[in-house]
Amino acid sequence: PTDEARSTPLLIKNLLLTGQRYERTQEIIYRDLVRYDYRTFNERVCRLANALTKAGVKAGDTVAMMDWDSHRYLECMFAVPMLGAVMHTINVRLSHDQILYTMNHAEDIVVLINSEFVPIYKAIEDELTTVTTTILLTDEDEKTADLPGLVGEYEQLLAAAEATYEFADFDENSVATTFYTTGTTGNPKGVYFTHRQLVLHTLGQAASLSALDSVRQLGNRDVYMPITPMFHVHAWGIPYTATMLGLKQVYPGRYEPERLVQMIKDHKVTFSHCVPTILQMVLNAEGAKDFDFNGMRVIIGGSALNRSLYLAAKAKGMQLGAAYGMSETCPMISAGYVNLELEEASEEVQIAHRIKAGVPGPLVEAQIMAPDGSMLPNDGETQGELVLRAPWLTQGYFREPEKSQELWAGGWMHTGDVATISPMGFIEIRDRIKDVIKTGGEWLSSLELEDLISRSPLVAEVAVVGVPDPRWDERPFALIVPAAGQTVTAQSIADHLTPCVEEGHINKWAIPHQVAVVAEIPKTSVGKLDKKRIRADIAGWLEA
Ligand code: ADP
Repeated sequence: PTDEARSTPLLIKNLLLTGQRYERTQEIIYRDLVRYDYRTFNERVCRLANALTKAGVKAGDTVAMMDWDSHRYLECMFAVPMLGAVMHTINVRLSHDQILYTMNHAEDIVVLINSEFVPIYKAIEDELTTVTTTILLTDEDEKTADLPGLVGEYEQLLAAAEATYEFADFDENSVATTFYTTGTTGNPKGVYFTHRQLVLHTLGQAASLSALDSVRQLGNRDVYMPITPMFHVHAWGIPYTATMLGLKQVYPGRYEPERLVQMIKDHKVTFSHCVPTILQMVLNAEGAKDFDFNGMRVIIGGSALNRSLYLAAKAKGMQLGAAYGMSETCPMISAGYVNLELEEASEEVQIAHRIKAGVPGPLVEAQIMAPDGSMLPNDGETQGELVLRAPWLTQGYFREPEKSQELWAGGWMHTGDVATISPMGFIEIRDRIKDVIKTGGEWLSSLELEDLISRSPLVAEVAVVGVPDPRWDERPFALIVPAAGQTVTAQSIADHLTPCVEEGHINKWAIPHQVAVVAEIPKTSVGKLDKKRIRADIAGWLEA
């Protein structure tokens, strides 16, 4: 074969061209402000590439994005890497210090900034070491801002730019995107993904998501809207998949539950994804009260999907499916699936499988590793650390050689999660290694205990962490938001859990002897239960 035939590179530009080929007239929508079709989308990506080139962007440069979920974000997810530059998706919910750290560490040169974030930018501007150029993103009439290095406002720059651009081929192993893990300890760590990795991830994800529901496949009648921020693992990479498939796409801006529900109604959204706490907010929104979500499918990832949430969504006409992944994995690893064997099983057994972390998708290898590095059986019971191989895992943490080695010790990527894998191939995440509660000589899964407690009708939301205990090593502590109009005490939780002890699901040390009732549980920047903060403030919770 010729060199050309052998080496056709896997590039992000091909994902864009595919969607266009399928559906030229399908729309991309931003709030109630912008709507255009795929032809215009393609043209705008070309205009953006010209505008960025004029602003000085070259292959290898890092271009950072500070925006809520928007059509602009989607355009940047294509145009920036298609120029050979690296797109840094800034987590705008991190602290100013962390944002500053990530921008200097990633060596951002150009930053696109939503007018809402100009104050954050101004607060850190003096300490930024690499940024030379800024571009304003705004929905307001005012098209300028007091920003150093400002070359102009996004729409004005696009309007002034040429409508075509010949995107060159280059090495598929060029880095396309980078972002930072939310940093449970120490500084945030940078992960990065190449064109080849994102293209393979997109193909793998499309295959996994099509199998997600054995009845309905993801297809051109679906309307897609993310409810996972685009700065969080590029909205789990699903905008790339939606574009490749030519789906209608809806971008909601900042996440406000009422607006999200309104957009779902207005645009008949059929497909989305989010972490459990955000879905809870959507389901509890005023606008969702008497609304039937009419079979809308939502992938829940980032935290365990529990049975209570699955059933609450089902009652409102929403079909949930679980998926598992992390920042380091691009993120898609596994997704829930009802196979032919399970189709024959009872509803209860099907639900139990739908809420597990799912079956690894194509090209993903998953194993359970013992502390000595040996592999453990896939019997659905033996627990160990989940380790992975797949073509789209981060090669390491940017400029952190030691941490990168730890991540990839023994040639497998270490997830830091304790899991089992069943003979049918289902991964079940038991807990994060650092959240497991060591009590009475046994390991208690904080996730399992949260699931059991959440089944009480008294409870709206719960987080469980271990607290040191002189006798039992650790004991569980539960932070609980009561259901509307209910009262929760340590005794009522103990009463609720006693049958679980009697039936042998948990041992008696698992009953929390300390419970704090709160109006709200602390959440991380992406809406997960923030166990670090809960642990740090247990004394405070108990006093209050
Ligand atoms: P952070 O560590 O800041 O939450 P990530 O978004 O990378 O950042 O989170 C990945 C982690 O989320 C996984 O390691 C795992 O602990 C948890 N997680 C993701 N999906 C699931 C799932 N389906 N079930 C249980 N835990 C999950």
